[in-house]
Amino acid sequence: MSVEQPLRAKPSKIKKDRTYRESNIGGDSHLKDVKDEYDVIVIGSGLAGLTSANCMAKQGRSVLLLEQHYILGGLAQYFKRRGHIFDISLHGFPIGMKKTLRKYWSKELADNIEQVESVRFDNPQFTLETTFTREDFTRIIVEEFGIEKDKVIGFYDHLAKMNYYDDNKMTTREMFEQFFPGRTDVWRLLMEPITYANGSTLDEPAISYGIVFSNFMSKGVYIYNGGTDDMINKMQEILETNGVDIRTKCLVQKILVEDGKTSGVIVNNKTVKANCVISNAGIHPTIYKMVGRENLDEDFVKELDDVKVNTSSCQVYIGIDKEEEIPYFGDLVFTSIHPEYDSDALTSMDITSRTYSVYYPEMRPERNRYTIVASINSKYDDWASLSDEQYQIAKDKMIDETIESLEKYVPGIREKIHYLEAATPRSVEFYTLSHMGTSFGTKFDGLKISQELPKQIKGLYHAGSVGIIMSGWLGAANYGVIVSNSADKYLASLESE
Ligand SMILES: Cc1cc2nc3c(=O)[nH]c(=O)nc-3n(C[C@H](O)[C@H](O)[C@H](O)COP(=O)(O)OP(=O)(O)OC[C@H]3O[C@@H](n4cnc5c(N)ncnc54)[C@H](O)[C@@H]3O)c2cc1C
Repeated sequence: MSVEQPLRAKPSKIKKDRTYRESNIGGDSHLKDVKDEYDVIVIGSGLAGLTSANCMAKQGRSVLLLEQHYILGGLAQYFKRRGHIFDISLHGFPIGMKKTLRKYWSKELADNIEQVESVRFDNPQFTLETTFTREDFTRIIVEEFGIEKDKVIGFYDHLAKMNYYDDNKMTTREMFEQFFPGRTDVWRLLMEPITYANGSTLDEPAISYGIVFSNFMSKGVYIYNGGTDDMINKMQEILETNGVDIRTKCLVQKILVEDGKTSGVIVNNKTVKANCVISNAGIHPTIYKMVGRENLDEDFVKELDDVKVNTSSCQVYIGIDKEEEIPYFGDLVFTSIHPEYDSDALTSMDITSRTYSVYYPEMRPERNRYTIVASINSKYDDWASLSDEQYQIAKDKMIDETIESLEKYVPGIREKIHYLEAATPRSVEFYTLSHMGTSFGTKFDGLKISQELPKQIKGLYHAGSVGIIMSGWLGAANYGVIVSNSADKYLASLESE
């Protein structure tokens, strides 16, 4: 057993913020031998950018993929510290990821998708374990919460009939009130996992809830066995095999627009031409920072000004000493000490709710280590407004309280920890340049802006997290496919002109 205090990441010597990142762009060397012109330039290597780049290359296009970070993946990311590998966003996604990987990447990648065995909830209203399937939710709501089966079936039928294109003003709260009046325990079971992920509230449209439930919460939770590093490294190999020119440490400063069409980008102060550009950066930074308001209709940009992003995340990364083991206590554990479901409390700096993702040695058998990632949904403004000193104090407090809370699930864990580090919405913003460190992109209305961008500027597309269907690992990858098809058609139309 380790007797020393666990190692903790030291405060950074530089101010890790967007300004620092944007003013320290990589030099010419990162663009060595880059061609003057490509068919398509993809800005950003999140799952949407990577998938777009791969689809375009498979369609025979010459593709330049530009990523400002030194590593690919965007929010589908990992990092290595003192022998540990920490996954940032590998907690769970829908089964659809298997098909998407098989169809647009490789069978080998798809074969690594496995169902998460145990999803647990522990809060003052209930403690239970579920497979996160519609059948199991039904069983729990009927048998454990005592609701009539017909009511539950009626609720699912209602969700199934919801149509995204209907102008339905009902909120999730009203919908829950209609089907499960006053049953805040049922609301909590059905709503808390979504709020944990993207900070959704009961006062948002019921349709967004319906889509998440139907897509995410009805057929179980899946994970990539082998870890994010394995998946991203394999994707990089596939991209290289398909001829994609990949450049990291390459910050796109400007998307060039001439006569209503895109003509390329300025990256690390160099101009590279292309008739087609796909931006995987957030829709806000794409328009505000790279295109510029002046190149778009005023009403279009004003509409974007009103588009809100989903909340961000804090995480505590816990690396267990290599000589130590911890008992199995679930794969994904949603915990809260707050009396009832409350989206404000869930995102508060006064932390009462944490989700633990536990990575057992089977995830990366060659390493034989245990790691735990505690995720806490958080508001960007709470963290952005802190002075550097307050920031460090808040991070340390978050780490200490997380270990204390984890002791309930793994008694004695404190003595087994080798390494600790924390990230906040500021870290998310710094590493991906996302708007306000959002973890799941924009709310629904961002999708319309994203889809209408090519009508504003010919040849310019956006592929990235907008609205819940097009975000998360699966949504982003699928959106990358959709956008690459449109972009390919556009290039074909230019050729036939
Ligand atoms: C803590 C956390 C937990 C999450 N958990 C889950 C989960 O369990 N399941 C799930 O499905 N999803 C999860 N997500 C969400 C999921 O990771 C994202 O929705 C998805 O990965 C986003 O992909 P994307 O393609 O939209 O782009 P992003 O991942 O946002 O990538 C955009 C890329 O563009 C690059 N870029 C930006 N500006 C420029 C520029 N000017 N020049 C060059 N490059 C640029 C960025 O560096 C970045 O690499 C989580 C996210 C977070 C933060």
